[in-house]
Amino acid sequence: MNSRRNFLQKLAASVVTFPLLSSEAIACMEQTGSMVQDGPPLRVAIMGLGSYGTRVAEAMKDCKRARLTGVISGTPAKITNWQSKYNIPEKNCYNYENFDRIKDNPDIDAVYVITPNALHREHVIRAAKAGKHVICEKPMALNAKEGQEMVDACKKANVKLLVGYRMHFEPKTLEIIRMRKEGELGKIMFFQGLSGFAIGDPGQWRLKKELAGGGALMDIGIYSINGARYMVGEEPVWVTAQETKTDPEKFKPGVDETIQFQLGFPSGAVASCLSTYSMNNLDRFFLNGTKGFAELQPSTGYGPIKGRTNKGELTQPHMTHQTVQMDEMAAIIMDGKQPVVSVDGEEGLRDLKIIDAIYEAVKSGKKVKLTI
Ligand code: NAD
Repeated sequence: MNSRRNFLQKLAASVVTFPLLSSEAIACMEQTGSMVQDGPPLRVAIMGLGSYGTRVAEAMKDCKRARLTGVISGTPAKITNWQSKYNIPEKNCYNYENFDRIKDNPDIDAVYVITPNALHREHVIRAAKAGKHVICEKPMALNAKEGQEMVDACKKANVKLLVGYRMHFEPKTLEIIRMRKEGELGKIMFFQGLSGFAIGDPGQWRLKKELAGGGALMDIGIYSINGARYMVGEEPVWVTAQETKTDPEKFKPGVDETIQFQLGFPSGAVASCLSTYSMNNLDRFFLNGTKGFAELQPSTGYGPIKGRTNKGELTQPHMTHQTVQMDEMAAIIMDGKQPVVSVDGEEGLRDLKIIDAIYEAVKSGKKVKLTI
C-alpha cells in the first residue's frame, strides 16, 4: 500500500502539471497497472531489433518495473547502436547462434521474442530451455500444434510464457470489459471486428508464407479474433469463413489478402469479422447487448484508442500501450499478478486454434466446430 500512497502523494503534487487527471483517470491507472506495486524489476532481453522491437524498447524507457538489459540480434551494427542508445553492456549481447548461453547470465530474467512469426516457436523454446521467462509476440506461432509445443516446453522448464497482447491492458478496452461483466450492456448478442491495413512492400516477410505462416489473418485479423473473445467474454464453438483475393500476384498461395469470418458462442452470441491487407482505416470493434452497445474506433492501433458506449464517450486517458504492458507483465512474472484478461501461452494457443479453424473453414466452405 505504501507505494500506492506515495504515488497518490506524488500525483497530488503534480496536479499543477496535470490539471486534467481526474479521479476516474487515477482509478483507471490503478486498474491497468500503471500503478503497479514497487518490487524487483523484470530485466528483459529483446530478441529481434526490428520496427516493433524498437517501439517496445523506446516504451520501456518509461517503465517502472521492466528494464531493458540485453539484446539478441543477427546484425552486429544494430547491437552496437542499441548498446549505446540503451546502455547495454557487451556481456548482455547475443546473436541467434550463441543466445542459449543466456542461461548463465544472471542479469536477464526474460526474453521478449519479436522476430517474424515462423521463428517464434524455435526462439521461445530455446529461451525457455535457457531457463528464462518468455514474452512472445503475436501470433504466438504458426498453428496450434506449434503453440502447444511452446506451452509444454515453458511448463517443463518452469518458466512463464506470455504473449504481447497489449490491448489487454488498454484502459478503454478494460472499461468496456468491466461494463459487460457488470451487466451494463445486458445480454451480449453481437460483436463486429474489422482489422486491416493496406500492406506496402511486396518483398517483406509478412507476405512470405514460410515466414508469416499466412497473410492478413495471422498479422492483423488476430486482433479481431482475440477481441471477439475478450469483448464477448466467451470462447467460440464454431467458425465459418470466406476468402477473397483481388491481387494474386502480391498475395501468393497461402498468403491471405482478405478473409471474412464468423464465430458462434455458447450463449448464442455471434461475431462477424473482417481481416484484410488491402484496406486502410479499418480498425473497429462494435459490441451489442440487449441493454447497450460499445464501440472502439480505432480499436487496436497504437492509440489513442477512441470509443463510446450508449452512456457516452469513453474518457479513460491514453497511456503508451507497450509501457503499460511491460510493467504489467513484470508484475505478472515477478509477483504472480492476475491480469483482467489473460496474456499467457494458453491464451495465445486459443487464438491459434481459431486461426487453424478459420483456414480449415475457408478450404472446406463448411462450418467448423471448435473446442477450446
Ligand atoms: P520487422 O521486420 O520490423 O522486424 C523483425 C526483426 O527480426 C528484424 O530485426 C529482423 O532482422 C529480425 N529477423 C531475425 N531473423 C529473421 C529472418 N529470418 N527473416 C527476417 N527477419 C529476421 O518486423 P516487426 O514488425 O518488428 O514484427 C516482428 C514481430 O512482432 C511479428 O511477430 C509481428 O507480428 C509482431 N508485431 C506485433 C505488434 C503489436 O502491436 N503487438 C506490432 C508489430 C509487430
